Amino acid sequence: MEYYSTRNTTKRMSASEAIAKGLAPDGGLYVPAVLPPVDLKALKELLPLSYGERAKRILKIYLPEYSPQELDRLVASSYGANFDTAAVAPLRFTDSLTGYLELWHGPTSAFKDMALQMLPHLLTASLRKLGEQRGVCILVATSGDTGKAALEGFADVPGTKILVFYPRDGVSDVQKLQMVTQTGKNVGVCAVEGNFDDAQTGVKRIFSDRAFAEELSERGWFLSSANSINWGRLLPQIVYYFSAYCDFVNSGRIKCGEPVNFCVPTGNFGNILAGWMATAMGLPVTRFICASNANNVLTDFIRTGVYDRRRPFHLTTSPSMDILVSSNLERLLFFLSKDAERVTEWMRQLSAEGCYDVGTELKRLIGRDFEAGFCDDEGTAAEIARVWHENGYLIDTHTAVASKVLGDYRQRTGDRAPAIVVSTASPYKFCDSVLRALGEQTDAPGTELIARLERVTGTVAPAPLSGLAGRAVRFDGCVAPEGQKQVVADFLK
Ligand SMILES: *Cc1c(COP(=O)(O)O)cnc(C)c1O
Repeated sequence: MEYYSTRNTTKRMSASEAIAKGLAPDGGLYVPAVLPPVDLKALKELLPLSYGERAKRILKIYLPEYSPQELDRLVASSYGANFDTAAVAPLRFTDSLTGYLELWHGPTSAFKDMALQMLPHLLTASLRKLGEQRGVCILVATSGDTGKAALEGFADVPGTKILVFYPRDGVSDVQKLQMVTQTGKNVGVCAVEGNFDDAQTGVKRIFSDRAFAEELSERGWFLSSANSINWGRLLPQIVYYFSAYCDFVNSGRIKCGEPVNFCVPTGNFGNILAGWMATAMGLPVTRFICASNANNVLTDFIRTGVYDRRRPFHLTTSPSMDILVSSNLERLLFFLSKDAERVTEWMRQLSAEGCYDVGTELKRLIGRDFEAGFCDDEGTAAEIARVWHENGYLIDTHTAVASKVLGDYRQRTGDRAPAIVVSTASPYKFCDSVLRALGEQTDAPGTELIARLERVTGTVAPAPLSGLAGRAVRFDGCVAPEGQKQVVADFLK
């Protein structure tokens, strides 16, 4: 299996190289040169298997340089006791046609764990295969969720360290507590005065400081990121689309081979792209429904073929989807056009002019596989209340966006095919919005709201969230953006 960049297909490399590099030097994203077929027979073989066994079958296709023992270790260390259910990613049905794929049973109660519990093991294995002697230090600037998920993923992974910067004025009570109480011998967390941009600008400056990189290299370290455009973050996500389909078949609601639709709450386009890749490999899916919040740049793109980021940015109750530039869309454009030159030109236009048009032929291809819709905060809250009252099933704000968009799609098109709503966060992760949607008060610190949501609904919060209030704070440092470099230097002494 060879990989190349979406902006230059002449230079080929292994999966290990693509994962170790992250972003291609030409600015493109790494993609596999082929999406190998999984036929109906191979799909049927997945049906009786556990999540981990299904994962090994799919991962093996894309990681041919891994031995069966390495794959065993990779999957065992990624999806074990760190998840609160042996099913890892269970499918919950609300009626005979609709399942919710719960991707939030990992340590941080959101779907980023599905990839970030595996990425550290993929990355260290890749570095070993390439003969890298130095340790890798992951540097993250976070607006909340990714930082915590990366901390949990890298904590105590040999040969790695992780340092997370978060904006002092830009994360919720619960998010901050999650990070500053993080355990592990190789982790560091530090607040930065200012907002997310200040923290991120500081990190970018450190990454581009050549002299500093050399100094760290002499001490046996190099810096890397856990960015969502790394192939090592996309690959683990392909697995749960296969797994969810198998669970739908095993429930007796469909026959193996019968197609379903998926509706995915989308921000950076990573999750939904992984699903599309599964379909390109042969998973029977008719349509991916791309669900956005008020930041509906993707809805417009899928309907018109014009990507236009020149619009107001909205802060919504589904903050992990507050994005105007969906980086992973570049991979879809490449897969469908197979034209690195045109992709390069569209991305140039996006950064220079904030806008590009993929033309009628590519728009038609996109429309064959994708539908799109969006839902504002009011509709999101109403959907949380509706699903709770009609089904006794509690969903978070991001999942509610997808749930509403699926309902709208079914009404608009009359398509009543079996469908899976991808559920990306535990409702307890967004307690205040969920309580408000149910008509409850939210005038208390975040940790008390968790207990309140338990009382109101009779559901149980994930243990890592309900245990937060009692955990010791390990990191209370705060620096100005100019001080971030010194924090890194001290961390890697
Ligand atoms: C990151 C995230 C998303 C968006 O996923 P993308 O892969 O960026 O499209 C949706 N919901 C939650 C809860 C997230 O954390």
